[in-house]
Amino acid sequence: MKALKEKFRPLSVWVSGHHQLSIAIVLSVAPLCLLMAFSFVFHSGARLLSEKTYQHAVELQQEQLHISTHNFILLIDLIRQEIKEEHPDWSPEQIDVRVKQIAYQRVHQLEFRNNAFISIKQVRDYNGGSRYAVLFANPRNPEHEGTSLSTELTDSNQKHYFLEQLEGIRQAGKIAQVHSCPEPESGKILERLSYSEAYPDYDWIVTMSIDADTLQQYPQKNESQIVPQLRLYMVLFFLSILAMVLLTVFFILLSDKEYFGTQKKELQQQINWDTLTSAHSRKYGAELLRREWENYQHRLTANDTAVMMLDIDHFKEFNDQYGHDIGDAVLREVVLAIRRASRSSDSIIRWGGDEFVGIFYGLKRTHTELMIEKILHAINDIHISIGSTEIKVTVSMGFAFFQSGDSDEQVVLKRADEALYEAKKAGRNLGKTVD
Ligand code: GH3
Ligand code: MG
Repeated sequence: MKALKEKFRPLSVWVSGHHQLSIAIVLSVAPLCLLMAFSFVFHSGARLLSEKTYQHAVELQQEQLHISTHNFILLIDLIRQEIKEEHPDWSPEQIDVRVKQIAYQRVHQLEFRNNAFISIKQVRDYNGGSRYAVLFANPRNPEHEGTSLSTELTDSNQKHYFLEQLEGIRQAGKIAQVHSCPEPESGKILERLSYSEAYPDYDWIVTMSIDADTLQQYPQKNESQIVPQLRLYMVLFFLSILAMVLLTVFFILLSDKEYFGTQKKELQQQINWDTLTSAHSRKYGAELLRREWENYQHRLTANDTAVMMLDIDHFKEFNDQYGHDIGDAVLREVVLAIRRASRSSDSIIRWGGDEFVGIFYGLKRTHTELMIEKILHAINDIHISIGSTEIKVTVSMGFAFFQSGDSDEQVVLKRADEALYEAKKAGRNLGKTVD
């Protein structure tokens, strides 16, 4: 997890940089685009599915028409055979007349679903023309039976339906077609599927046709079952993508917050603490002093906070004689010694160089001498050896307290500094208090 966060860190920094606005725009627009893309894919998919299903239904229906038409032709052959056997004395012409009568009757008697029916044309001229055939039997249009048909005729969609049919018969002896014609009652244009097969002995074209409109129900039925399911999958897919996007954003923001939180903390520490001695920094110390001054102003009671200014005696000499590292060690040890002598709640601030400020909360004036003694004692206890030489560290201190006439915290600091000066003047290794 941590490694993952580390990886995300550059991304997090990048996100938090100058790209915030563009990323916010992308993140808000992206789900919308995704939704639009999904909706487009969904509808195209549904349309494709619907078309495929319709095509499939048409193919199945054509197959059915093929079987029924062919069966009818087999039936004619069967009837011819039976008549021949029943009437062996009949001439071929007499037999044909009888077969055509029966075929005509059958065409009119047969009933199919979905307005399906069989019709028969007798071809006169296989090359087509305005009188290429005669309508022999058509149960839907009995009034047109016996009339001539022309290959010039077109269906409701200007398609040369008869010409196409004749060419199919001439080339393959059969043809499957789609054509449109008006509904007899309403005049509404309907699509019809047809299958035609030749019966060459009589120059017949036997055609069976059916309303294609009923086929539309298949895809619709199919669609009504599949589409809601498809829609659910799409929505789930979209939601999971959305969740992923949101999770990523959340993760980036989280790692961002953490990263910058840590950075801020580190920065804060650098600002608040002196890295060499671990005392408070001057900047933070000044803030502590100001706060304490404000507290004092509000309370205006006993002078219960002492401000100490401390300076290491002849510190330069440690640097000069033993080097800066020893000087640094002295600085660190002095801070530890003041800590030992004071309360953990007191504040020790490195004011600069070898100078420290202490804030002793709740220190009574009458206890100042005791405090000075304790610090001097603790400093005296510092042991830093260079070879056989033991370094002797001493400090001078000035103590001051907030006073009612003070204008700000700088005044008390100045008083402490003056007391320190007095201590230095008085011979060092001691503390002075100013009232
Ligand atoms: P006095 O008793 O009058 O205070 O004499 P002093 O030698 O201590 O004089 P002063 O306080 O002026 O000396 C401060 C010296 O502290 C000067 C500077 O070189 C040294 N110093 C300041 N910061 C550092 C530090 O971070 N490390 C070390 N080793 N020395 C420092
Ligand atoms: Mg000094």
